[in-house]
Amino acid sequence: MDTKDKTQEGDVSIFGSKVMRQPAPAERIPKHRTRAEIAYRMVKDETFPQTQPRLNLATFVTTYMDDYGTKLMNEAVGINYIDETEYPRVAVMCGRCINMVANMWNTPEKGDWKTGAVGIGSSEACMLGGVAAWLRWRERRKAEGKPYDKPNLVMSTAYQVVWEKFCQLWQIEMRTVPITHEHPTLDIDAALNICDENTICIVPIMGVTWTGMNDDVEALNTALDEYNGRTGYNIPIHIDAASGGFILPFLYPEKKWDFRLKWVYSISTSGHKYGLVYPGLGWVVWKDKKYLPKDMSFSVNYLGASISQVGLNFSRPAAQILAQYYNFIHLGVEGYTEIHSNSMDIAKYCHKAIGKMPCFKNYSDTLENPLFIWTMDPDYEKEAKWTLFDLQDKLMQSGWMVPAYTMPKDIEEMVVMRIVVRQGMSRDMADMLIEDITNAVAELEKLEYPTPTRIAAQKSEKQKGKVYTH
Ligand SMILES: *Cc1c(COP(=O)(O)O)cnc(C)c1O
Repeated sequence: MDTKDKTQEGDVSIFGSKVMRQPAPAERIPKHRTRAEIAYRMVKDETFPQTQPRLNLATFVTTYMDDYGTKLMNEAVGINYIDETEYPRVAVMCGRCINMVANMWNTPEKGDWKTGAVGIGSSEACMLGGVAAWLRWRERRKAEGKPYDKPNLVMSTAYQVVWEKFCQLWQIEMRTVPITHEHPTLDIDAALNICDENTICIVPIMGVTWTGMNDDVEALNTALDEYNGRTGYNIPIHIDAASGGFILPFLYPEKKWDFRLKWVYSISTSGHKYGLVYPGLGWVVWKDKKYLPKDMSFSVNYLGASISQVGLNFSRPAAQILAQYYNFIHLGVEGYTEIHSNSMDIAKYCHKAIGKMPCFKNYSDTLENPLFIWTMDPDYEKEAKWTLFDLQDKLMQSGWMVPAYTMPKDIEEMVVMRIVVRQGMSRDMADMLIEDITNAVAELEKLEYPTPTRIAAQKSEKQKGKVYTH
């Protein structure tokens, strides 16, 4: 037997150990123990070569929290939120957060505890909002003695993948309105045209993942009011405000998009996006408890008391809830407004700098959220030997993650690049980014021959109808 096998338990140095010259376990749980320092080093180093999270301008999710927020989360890492009897204060804190989120969105609901739920992210929160709309619709159909086997949901093609999952898992027909160059956000007339008595809700998006724009909920509400009055259908609105839910209340408090509007019955958001908490947190709020079907609250008499719970998950970490509550106390409306205004200013600064470069063209002239997309300038593109995918690869060499992607169906021929500005991105970093983009473009312009992605793009342009994807 190899003596080094035994010394795993002994004092062999980490990089002198046998484990470090073997492939990492991938198929089965290893038979033998490995010393904690060695196992730790292996796991830690596995993530070592990844890009710096703060230079990842692709994600909407928090990559910076201050030391106290981080400390609170680390100290709470062992707490299970569902053990409400063991940690009753966590449940109280969660209720307070729901109250604050509900009031931030101008809920009309009275009473000490507003109606809402915590989730792992917007995905869980969207699912809960969607299920509630479906169950309410079903109840009404049953009461009217009408069939309830063909529910559908209406939104734009710029939906986030969670809605496809929701419709697939609950077998709800997804009806989409194309995003086009004429209608870069939800086309309201077209949306109402595909609604019928089986529509469980319309889902506008605040902070569309693909473009950073907002659907016009106020106009939708007005049109829907007329439509519902005429048809008697009572179709409600669930707003997917994954990123916009924490931007609008601070940067545009006057803008009416939330529970101030008649047909908005529920709103979901990600606490881990512009709520400024590390990953694992979403919120959904209903306008009143009458919009949350009773079938969705489960009473659990199991951990020492009877508690009622709304959610897809049972156990979940409590740390994110503590961090959200900490952010609310520490930052206040003032702090959130300052941080998001800075992100907005820096996004606008980058937007302007990109717009000035002859090879690029911004998708829109103004910004609604601290993110934006741009394309290659159409005239420049005719002669270009590179694509935005090549630029993405080049920028990765300097550590930046700036994604290039094709737009949703109907405008899928359009390749765009996106920057999401979050807390943690300073003006100095923006200057570094712009410099790196300028240098990368200068290098790409020296190319004598077209890159493989450019050749592929040209081929697909010739075969009209055939789509080029990365
Ligand atoms: C991010 C996002 C989601 C999914 O949210 P998670 O918090 O990642 O689960 C859903 N909808 C929109 C519009 C988003 O931007």
